[in-house]
Amino acid sequence: MRQARKVSRRRVLGWATRAVTLAGGMAVGFPGHALAAPPGARPGDSAVPHAGTVRPARRVRDVRPEVAHDAIALTIDDGPHPLWTPPTLDLLRDNGIQATFSLIGIQARAHPALVKRILAEGHSVCNHSMTHPQPFNRRTPAAIRQQITDAQLAIVEAGGVAPQLFRAPGGDWSTVVLSTVADLRMVPLGWDIDPRDWARPGTTLIIRRLLAARPGDILLCHDGGGNRAQTIASLRLVLPMLKGRGLEFVTL
Ligand SMILES: [Zn+2]
Repeated sequence: MRQARKVSRRRVLGWATRAVTLAGGMAVGFPGHALAAPPGARPGDSAVPHAGTVRPARRVRDVRPEVAHDAIALTIDDGPHPLWTPPTLDLLRDNGIQATFSLIGIQARAHPALVKRILAEGHSVCNHSMTHPQPFNRRTPAAIRQQITDAQLAIVEAGGVAPQLFRAPGGDWSTVVLSTVADLRMVPLGWDIDPRDWARPGTTLIIRRLLAARPGDILLCHDGGGNRAQTIASLRLVLPMLKGRGLEFVTL
């Protein structure tokens, strides 16, 4: 009975998602991207990304052209994680910084309270696939689409907010991935600064790489996928320093 009800709800949500997509996007699943034209678009271009013509956003103003040139964005991937997301959130709060969390669907489903806390504290969320399979762009087109739609439903169910951004696991983009993202009326999110914190290279290296950030950059860090103590220790030092340069952190 319980299982049947779950399946039924998923069917309803799935239908709603398809209907919304066909209608141009206004509601629960894939609301369309109301913020901006697609990355690389020129004034007057359609706000709906065209399959095959988009590229992942690498600069803040690719996603939010209205923000100041010195705005930078911190993106935090592979959570939510019960051990590493809370101290990351504490650190962001202590520094008065809001970030963008790229959530993995199964983890959003497992830790809905963390998704709610992320959103309640003013951060934004990005769809980072359901199970983070890699290489992502080697999946079948159907599997790629399923990964995105399943994660979208999981995040909506956990936090009540439908992400407008999708980041491919590992940054594994392809024409199929990009066209699927465009078809779902989402925006592909890349990055500029990758300190490779996931590989735990030591805080000295992570700090040096993050301090290379320039105005307009999108920074990549992680709160999942392993022990993130180095990431948190690095951000504790780096965030006040970047703020001290006058860089304003914005959500995407
Ligand atoms: Zn990832």
